Amino acid sequence: MTTIHTLGFPRIGKHRELKFALEKFWHGEISADALEQTARDLRAQHWQIERAAGLDYVTVGDFAFYDQMLNHIQLLGCEPERFGFAADTPELDRHFTLARGVASETAACCAGHAHHGSAALEMTKWFDTNYHYLVPEFTDATRFSLASTRLFDQIAEAQALGHPVKVSLIGPLTFLYLGKEKTAGLDRLNLLDALLPVYQTILQKLQSLNVAWVQIDEPILCLDLDARWKAAFAPAYGKLAGTGARILLATYFGALLDNQATTLGLPVAGWHIDGVRAPEQIEPVIAALPSDRVLSLGLIDGRNIWRTDLDRVLGVAQQARARLGDRLWLAPSCSLQHVPVDLSTETAMDAELRSWLAYAVQKLDELGTLKTALDQGNDAAAEALTRSRTAIASRRSSPRVHNPAVAQRLASLPANADQRHSPFKVRQEVQRKRFHLPAYPTTTIGSFPQTKAIRAARAAFKRHEMNEADYVQAMQSEIRLAVEKQIELGLDVLVHGEAERNDMVEYFGEQLAGFAFSQNGWVQSYGSRCVKPPIIYGDVSRPHPMTVQWSSYAQSLTSLPMKGMLTGPVTILQWSFVRDDQPRSATTLQIALAIRDEVVDLEQAGIGIIQIDEPAIREGLPLRRGQWDAYLDWAGRAFRISASGVNDETQIHTHMCYSEFNDILPAIAAMDADVITIETSRSDMELLTGFGKFNYPNEIGPGVYDIHSPNVPETEEMVRLLKKAAEVIPADNLWVNPDCGLKTRGWPETEAALANMVAAAKAMRASA
Ligand code: GLN
Ligand code: ZN
Repeated sequence: MTTIHTLGFPRIGKHRELKFALEKFWHGEISADALEQTARDLRAQHWQIERAAGLDYVTVGDFAFYDQMLNHIQLLGCEPERFGFAADTPELDRHFTLARGVASETAACCAGHAHHGSAALEMTKWFDTNYHYLVPEFTDATRFSLASTRLFDQIAEAQALGHPVKVSLIGPLTFLYLGKEKTAGLDRLNLLDALLPVYQTILQKLQSLNVAWVQIDEPILCLDLDARWKAAFAPAYGKLAGTGARILLATYFGALLDNQATTLGLPVAGWHIDGVRAPEQIEPVIAALPSDRVLSLGLIDGRNIWRTDLDRVLGVAQQARARLGDRLWLAPSCSLQHVPVDLSTETAMDAELRSWLAYAVQKLDELGTLKTALDQGNDAAAEALTRSRTAIASRRSSPRVHNPAVAQRLASLPANADQRHSPFKVRQEVQRKRFHLPAYPTTTIGSFPQTKAIRAARAAFKRHEMNEADYVQAMQSEIRLAVEKQIELGLDVLVHGEAERNDMVEYFGEQLAGFAFSQNGWVQSYGSRCVKPPIIYGDVSRPHPMTVQWSSYAQSLTSLPMKGMLTGPVTILQWSFVRDDQPRSATTLQIALAIRDEVVDLEQAGIGIIQIDEPAIREGLPLRRGQWDAYLDWAGRAFRISASGVNDETQIHTHMCYSEFNDILPAIAAMDADVITIETSRSDMELLTGFGKFNYPNEIGPGVYDIHSPNVPETEEMVRLLKKAAEVIPADNLWVNPDCGLKTRGWPETEAALANMVAAAKAMRASA
């Protein structure tokens, strides 16, 4: 018999029940008991789904009110001392204080990004997903102890419902690895010896509760690890195995590669590996597998929304089964928390597209089908296999997916399509003559405050309660307002303000061919925040201009340069569910061509400066260094293709809202944007040192104030930052702008901040 299980299930609920309950609780509208009840109901529902699909175990431990790393911080008794919780502060309240800090300082800015007040734990991306976890903090005062009963309570819950239980835990090494030292000189790996006894206690307790299996996640085994971290695994798992617990060591998001020997050398009862991201490791891992242990193959994609090609995967599973017999387990590649919950909620989606998709519930059903076919023969699963076959065939041959014109255009793309006509120095000359900008030219990153009125108008238009003419007029008057304010403030390069955009990816996806939108394809990003990524299902093209009318209108209001505003191909790819029937690079190139068309149309319409935002370039970096160059190569080329259809006199800007560049500076320079604007104010311009040392050749706008807070920055402070910037970057190449877009801000603080910013630029000019 084949054992099937899942590494985790989305906890947010198919109608986002957890999100809404959390937000009500935070607003004081429901009690802690009511919130706990919602959570219990969701867990019961999800375990029921797992059992109904035929899973041999339900997974306990994948639930979290806010975050699973935070659960472990509480379980392991290492809440940072700085929070100073009173002994009687309830665990739930501590959970939310750790996660959210001071509520008033919490603000969300760019799509899928979060910025937190000072008191909260830092949040960062979970590997290369769009999920954010809370970062454990370690100091020399950090101690560990078993400090929560939640996990055990949930086991009791599952057992009371009659379910066989597999517990899921984050492993001690991954837990330490993902944390941060807050005491100088501390090395968090040295905390391992203090941490392991708590894991041992937990494992003993789990045995006393008759838990059959403990899945321990160590996804860092798919990263480049230095020798010390690698060497720490064997002794650590020696101790854990000593408890007698049956451990399934789970790895995912990539291949084990150089960590394979370490991993398979551990004294555990079995392993899970990712067979979707890294199918090439299945064979070597089976070959090296110790004879009496189990292997869980992740064959269903836990990171994407496509239906599995069951015929193909069954072939892989059958081969594995022939060699492993009952030691073969099957699962999704990773926890299903990275996909939406249930496709049956997509009642408005067209039937064809829907037939190509599988959300978490459907993925578990696929797993059930595989088990039936393996254990009882294909006939026993004939109906489900046929349905899968039909859907796969339909997707493969659908004219909606394949657009010969796109393929042809890519095939005939000249080799220099990613090169501007002239090198930067020549373009800079031409552009200076054209725009006559002063030294330290001022600009903004694109968006202006998204007021209630703007959102209401967009929503009304979407619900067909406002006709197109009225909508256009409403947006135009917002644009006019933004332009008037910018003129009054004395900014040099203006923007139209992005009033018409809900989201910087969705806005373009809605107008590009090859994209679809779900009604309920929500995935947790952090806490109660969910995102609904567009689905790229087919060849991408641009049937008609997407931004030209808005930019032209804005330009018609002023003789100052108006900056056109686009989202770049890598960011559009990165924040979408991407088709799995061609390489990501191929999809990105298609998007690049569509953006290129828009850039050229903007130029034709008289827009002389065009910004192509690429905030997601860095987060697209592969987990393994060895794959960085290839990625940066195609990502950079895609950007350049989108930017290079224009004449020398058209100025291309790009914007990136993060502040770690040093390790990818050559790739950033190779993008060859005439101007790049970046986030720097919070790092006190430190970031610029790297650009300076590297002799970054093109122009730079280092953000001079942090837009994540409503505080109005002082002119003197911005002058100080600009002087600091001018020490490392030639002053001729410096622009003056905020760190990022202003859509989450209100107008009063925005106007005050920009007035001070313009004053700072003038002070710099005067002192030059
Ligand atoms: N142009 C966008 C804006 O200003 C850029 C946002 C971002 O970089 N995430 O909102
Ligand atoms: Zn930004």
